[in-house]
Amino acid sequence: MADARKPAAPGFETLAVHAGASPDPATGARSTPIYQTTAYVFDDVDHAASLFNLQTYGYLYSRLTNPTVSVLEERVAALEGGRGAICVASGHAAQVLAFFTFMEPGDHFVAANKLYGGSITQFGRSFKKFGWEATLVDPDEPENFRRAITPRTKAIFVESLANPSGVVVDLERVARIAHDAGLLFIVDNTMASPYLCRPFEWGADLIVHSTTKFLSGHGNAMGGAVIDSGKVDWAKNPKFKSLTEPEPAYHGLRFYETFGDLAFTVHGHAVGLRDLGATMAPVNAFLTITGIETLALRMERHVANALAVARYLERHPAVAWVSHAGLASSPYHGLAKKYLPKGTGPVFTFGLKDGYDAGVKLVEGVNLFSHLANVGDTRSLILHPASTTHRQLTAEQQAAAGAGPEVVRLSIGIESVADLIADLDQALASAGH
Ligand SMILES: *Cc1c(COP(=O)(O)O)cnc(C)c1O
Repeated sequence: MADARKPAAPGFETLAVHAGASPDPATGARSTPIYQTTAYVFDDVDHAASLFNLQTYGYLYSRLTNPTVSVLEERVAALEGGRGAICVASGHAAQVLAFFTFMEPGDHFVAANKLYGGSITQFGRSFKKFGWEATLVDPDEPENFRRAITPRTKAIFVESLANPSGVVVDLERVARIAHDAGLLFIVDNTMASPYLCRPFEWGADLIVHSTTKFLSGHGNAMGGAVIDSGKVDWAKNPKFKSLTEPEPAYHGLRFYETFGDLAFTVHGHAVGLRDLGATMAPVNAFLTITGIETLALRMERHVANALAVARYLERHPAVAWVSHAGLASSPYHGLAKKYLPKGTGPVFTFGLKDGYDAGVKLVEGVNLFSHLANVGDTRSLILHPASTTHRQLTAEQQAAAGAGPEVVRLSIGIESVADLIADLDQALASAGH
């Protein structure tokens, strides 16, 4: 009887407002306080020892854990349907921490070549200094991932919805290829957010986020998150020794044996944050918690506005093409319907018939759009990659990165859509059409 009355699991919007948070036990404060503290007082020496040995759950030093950051961690884990999360200083820090947990020098992973530009640089240059090798392949043909696997490969990495070109990856097929080979499947879900796409439902093992973008949502807080599905059997595969073998710095503790499906999450704090130190600031956690409360409302408006702008651009005589998976003309339209049923993200690119000069005139001619290098803000943003973020690249590299001279990237905000279209319209007119 009791079971029949059990309430259904809370909905997404409820979790976005409540998950991980309860009134502050000390003051009753309803909004999560910013615990702006470096350290926490021990009850006594035994308590301190048990905290240092990871035998008691509690706060010790904010490089590892902080109560404001913990609320955010529980919230993002709940929104993705994961077991636990580690929040860090930025999206790039999240990627370092995710790989750091299981990669050794000489190890390898396969990643999609359609990624945020900063990730391509991070994987291709700085990761090499750790001895981690990445092979980038075109995700449009999922078999490319299988072909690039070597005996040292440990993971496959993709963006669910790639920044910036609106490429949708066939998550279910890539997950199967990863799992057939005993590899982890890691998905960067930044561009979609958990409101639009749920990678764990398609086989992801770990999800990374730049919370800097839609999760915080207001262009005012850097942050990142790594979320663990809790479903990986770390003992099944000798590739993932760091979670199964004794950890000397914790008196030979074995994370998987001790913490079970929380092993990855505990390791991320107790080893990853301890040694990498890329901690999220409590004030950024607070801003991100507040931002997440309106994620569903914002994404709905972002998606509707972006589709209206994409349709307007598709009809404009100065525009050569529009790459937005919500348009029937997109080769990713079918995949978008499957993986992003509530709509594709508000970040997309389009091409101008008159090339580089028209792109420069457009970004200089807008008034309401902000000309800058960010995405996922309440404000609408515009960028001409060839004259800014991708200007150091050769023409061939620009084209391969989807950043040719004619390409303009938009991140559509939540303003009145008529004002956004009017602004683009006047700027396109003064750019020569
Ligand atoms: C911005 C971004 C990152 C990097 O995040 P930061 O918070 O800027 O470090 C990684 N992946 C994607 C898809 C992004 O858009």
